[in-house]
Amino acid sequence: MLPFIDLAAQQARLRDRIDAAIGEVLDGGAYILGPAVGRFEDELSAFCGARHSISCANGTDALLLALMALEVTAGDAVFVPSFTFAATAEIVPCLGAVPYFVDIDPQTYNMDPESLKRCIEKAARDGMPLKAVIPVDLFGLPADIDAIEPIARESGMAIVCDTAQGFGGKYKGRVAGAMGDLATTSFFPAKPLGCYGDGGAITTNDEKLADSLRSLRNHGAGADKYDNIHIGMNSRLDSIQAAILSVKLSIFEEEITMRQDVAARYVERLADVVAVPTVPEGLTSTWAQYTVRLPVGADRSAVQAKLRDAGVPTAIYYPIPLHRQTAYRHWPHDPSGMVATDEAAESVLALPMHPYLEAGDQDRIAEALKGALAA
Ligand SMILES: *Cc1c(COP(=O)(O)O)cnc(C)c1O
Repeated sequence: MLPFIDLAAQQARLRDRIDAAIGEVLDGGAYILGPAVGRFEDELSAFCGARHSISCANGTDALLLALMALEVTAGDAVFVPSFTFAATAEIVPCLGAVPYFVDIDPQTYNMDPESLKRCIEKAARDGMPLKAVIPVDLFGLPADIDAIEPIARESGMAIVCDTAQGFGGKYKGRVAGAMGDLATTSFFPAKPLGCYGDGGAITTNDEKLADSLRSLRNHGAGADKYDNIHIGMNSRLDSIQAAILSVKLSIFEEEITMRQDVAARYVERLADVVAVPTVPEGLTSTWAQYTVRLPVGADRSAVQAKLRDAGVPTAIYYPIPLHRQTAYRHWPHDPSGMVATDEAAESVLALPMHPYLEAGDQDRIAEALKGALAA
């Protein structure tokens, strides 16, 4: 079986440097918020062009901390896509706020600005305080911030970009991580920039928010460690993970370029068989996932089974949109319906994707997919 995401290839390349970086932390003995953490945060800021980076325990906490820093509270409306990983939405009811599920653009799978407008009108009619919009860079493609930003601003809302999949992607000369009021990311091992455990970060240009976040991730600490100034939480990135991430970040831009080559080869091999992903002019995806759409009428489970038999793993992101999941279906969604979300959930299929995927393996994947669809 081919790997779906080959973390071993990258590790083989970096193993000596990672061992040395871990060794340095062990020698230094500062396991929590040690120098490796501050160093990595500076590198992460430099990478995306945001003024501040605040690392934390995972990408879900990054989202939760972002909403806490924005003082989202019970009864506030927060606008999120339904076609995303649960973490994007789960932090909203965690704070007692209400998630409004927005439909997607069927081409990019990202938040549809027109649907956002309809959801905002609904929330306003519902008498809800309008607090924040969380666009997601789904599968690595930056969300359409130029369209979303004026809509959010008109309603006085903050923007939190969930770049767990798209951190480092490009949007018309800007870098994902440096857009919105705050951007959050995840260093879960399988993300484009992953560590060897859980990790996350928030990036921002806003100094006040950055100060709040540094306090909130560490129990609300103030200048005096035992005089906490906020109700915070324990959500810190381990020094060992920060040291590992510094090594991985040093080759991340090169890996993003390698991912473009892999994606281009998929287009050559698959464009006449399935709907390959759309990348709008001026944007670069980090290709967290390579998601194709099967032709109408194709039996997706049968296609997956045939690919599995041919040694090709696949995955479905996401088979059940959030607005249809048990814990979420009572929350409001676009009053005009969630057509694009529902259609995507029924027809998408993610193929193996990582920077080290070779042309020969892509030939094999493409042949297997063609065979499965022809059968
Ligand atoms: C992975 C992911 C998260 C959560 O990250 P964790 O580090 O696993 O908590 C949030 N949003 C999106 C879109 C993700 O893909």
